[in-house]
Amino acid sequence: MLNFENTESAFEYQSKKELKKAYLLFSLLKYPFLVKLGSILTVIAFKMGLPIKSIVKTTIFRQFCGGETVDESEDRISQLAWYNVGTILDYCVEGKENDNDFEKTKGEIIQSIIKAKENQHIPFSVFKITGLGPSSIIRKANYHEELDDKEKLALKSIKKRVNEICKKAHDNQVSVFIDAEDSWFQDLIDELALDMMLTYNKKSAIIFNTIQLYRHDRLHYMKNLITKCKDSNVKCGLKLVRGAYMEKEREQAKINGYEDPIHTTKQDTDKDYNKAIDHCLNHIDALSICAGTHNEFSTKYLTEKMSKLNLKNNDNRVWFAQLLGMSDHISFNLSKNGYNTAKYVPYGPIKEVLPYLIRRAKENTSVTGQTGRELSLIKKEIKRRKSGNIS
Ligand SMILES: Cc1cc2nc3c(=O)[nH]c(=O)nc-3n(C[C@H](O)[C@H](O)[C@H](O)COP(=O)(O)OP(=O)(O)OC[C@H]3O[C@@H](n4cnc5c(N)ncnc54)[C@H](O)[C@@H]3O)c2cc1C
Repeated sequence: MLNFENTESAFEYQSKKELKKAYLLFSLLKYPFLVKLGSILTVIAFKMGLPIKSIVKTTIFRQFCGGETVDESEDRISQLAWYNVGTILDYCVEGKENDNDFEKTKGEIIQSIIKAKENQHIPFSVFKITGLGPSSIIRKANYHEELDDKEKLALKSIKKRVNEICKKAHDNQVSVFIDAEDSWFQDLIDELALDMMLTYNKKSAIIFNTIQLYRHDRLHYMKNLITKCKDSNVKCGLKLVRGAYMEKEREQAKINGYEDPIHTTKQDTDKDYNKAIDHCLNHIDALSICAGTHNEFSTKYLTEKMSKLNLKNNDNRVWFAQLLGMSDHISFNLSKNGYNTAKYVPYGPIKEVLPYLIRRAKENTSVTGQTGRELSLIKKEIKRRKSGNIS
């Protein structure tokens, strides 16, 4: 029986010391002012070459990342695998702007595909289109603005990199998620994702596009995409998320005077997320899905819907995923009940991963209730172990 209150299975993999460390970290993340100040000071300290790497590495990096390299992430992969939780290696280097870096990122993603092929505990690979080319070109192409010759060449290189990654995934039969990003990049991402699905999803869902249900146009888009895939006789791969860039989206819409693409209320986002689950499960013969969420209600909703449709808990077309260091009570209780579950495990050099860490820290202050929930669950488990004298 699925029970997210079971903190024993949620934190079985963590020692008392590790739990206490996590408790301290989430206690600090509760304070937006501290997170803001800490983020600024950390970036400055790195720029000045101050020796703070080991502090970052043993605290927030350890909570949310696997390691600086794939090799360093091995312990985490094995630890999760022990509890039947898969790893999705996420090379988390962002904000690069030159060809060498884009090629390096492409190489890392291809390595993660090869690694996934060798290791049954790595069910997916993942990448962001903005990691493969200059964001200014992606933005221009997104709005079909005229490109000069140099820009055309840059766009061609992005498309080539995307195809190389997807072909590698197809040849190795490793499914790959294309992450969703800001709306000013998303049309181009959707276009590339569809192109890759039509090419590589003929037999099974190798390429997954991501649907952000905090956008009011996405449910409609998703339904059309499923129809398009059906009509073209290819499997549709979909990762369902709510969306990570709400504040930025609202701000840009306001500044530039266009309609806010995000739902007005959280309830509207929740409604669309659950409607997307309904629609996907009603068409499950044509697709594979991954629910990328820390929301308990949506997770339970999906498991109940699976049961109503007589799908097995481990039906290989339905996956659940959470981020490393967050919502272990969901991940480990799902896997304990036989559901296909995986964690995004970000990795990369600490300095490069900083923007990701800062986003996680901010998310843990801004997502209503998220930190409070993590804290109370960890507290409950520490108390349980204390009363049973468990280390
Ligand atoms: C495995 C995994 C993969 C992910 N991949 C991506 C990705 O590719 N692209 C991406 O953008 N995000 C991605 N995310 C992040 C995700 O979109 C959410 O930001 C995050 O998971 C929090 O949403 P939730 O469903 O977990 O739960 P909740 O805590 O229930 O929902 C919080 C979310 O609800 C929405 N929301 C909050 N307040 C409002 C409001 N007032 N009005 C409208 N909507 C509101 C926002 O999207 C917010 O993030 C991923 C998350 C996971 C776990």
